Amino acid sequence: MEKLTDLLEKNREWAEKINQEDPHFFETLAQQQAPEYLWIGCSDSRVPANEIVGMLPGELFVHRNVANVVVHTDMNCLSVVQYAVEVLKVKHIMVVGHYGCGGVAASIKSEPHGLIDNWLRNIRRVYQKHREFLSTWDHSHQQLDRLCELNVIEQSVNLCETTIVQQAWANGQELTVHGWIYGLSDGLVNDLEFNASGAEEVEEQYQLAMNKMGKLQELAQASDKSQQNARTMWDKVRSIFD
Ligand SMILES: [Zn+2]
Repeated sequence: MEKLTDLLEKNREWAEKINQEDPHFFETLAQQQAPEYLWIGCSDSRVPANEIVGMLPGELFVHRNVANVVVHTDMNCLSVVQYAVEVLKVKHIMVVGHYGCGGVAASIKSEPHGLIDNWLRNIRRVYQKHREFLSTWDHSHQQLDRLCELNVIEQSVNLCETTIVQQAWANGQELTVHGWIYGLSDGLVNDLEFNASGAEEVEEQYQLAMNKMGKLQELAQASDKSQQNARTMWDKVRSIFD
C-alpha cells in the first residue's frame, strides 16, 4: 500500500502558512463562498486557475475540462454554470484557453485517440468552420495558435447561448462573458477581447473578434517572422482597434 505522504505533508505546511498570515482565514471561508468569477479552463496541469490571476480560495469558481469546451449537452459544465450564475451570482465568466493546447492539437490530427475523439469533435467543428482562414497561416504552430484562439471565441459564444446565461440576461442580471487565452511560455493572459454583457452584444462581439483575427493575419503577412509572436501581434491589433 502506498500513501501520498509528501502531498499530505505539503498540505499541512500550506494550511499552517495561511493560518499564520490570517488566523481566521479558514474559519471565514468555511462559512461562505461569494466568488465574483467563474473560470472555465483547460484541465492542463500547467494552467492553474487561481494562481494565474492571483486569487485565493473562495474568490474563483472553477470548471476545467480538456480544451475548455462548452457543449450544450455537457451536464457537468452546465451544472457548474447554473450554480455559479443562479446561486453564487458571479458577475464574470472567463473562458480561458491556452497556447499549445494538446487537446486542440489532437482534434485536427487524423490518427485516432480513442474515446476522447468524441469530445475533441467539438473542436474539430471549430477547425472546419474556420478552415479557410486557418489554411492561410504558414506554420503549423501558428495555425495551432489561431485555432486555440478561435476555440476560445467559439466556446464563449456557446456559453452565451446557454439557457442559463440567456435567462440571466433576460432577468437583467449583471453578467459578462470574457474570452481569454493564456501563454504557457510567459505566464501571461492574452485578452481576446470578446466581452459580452447582454444577448444583443454576442453577435457584435463575435464579429469584432473575427475582424481582429483578420487584422492579425494582415499583420503577419506584412511582418517578418521574428515579429510573429502571438502576443506581439495581438498587442498591435489592440492598438489599432483602441
Ligand atoms: Zn489544453
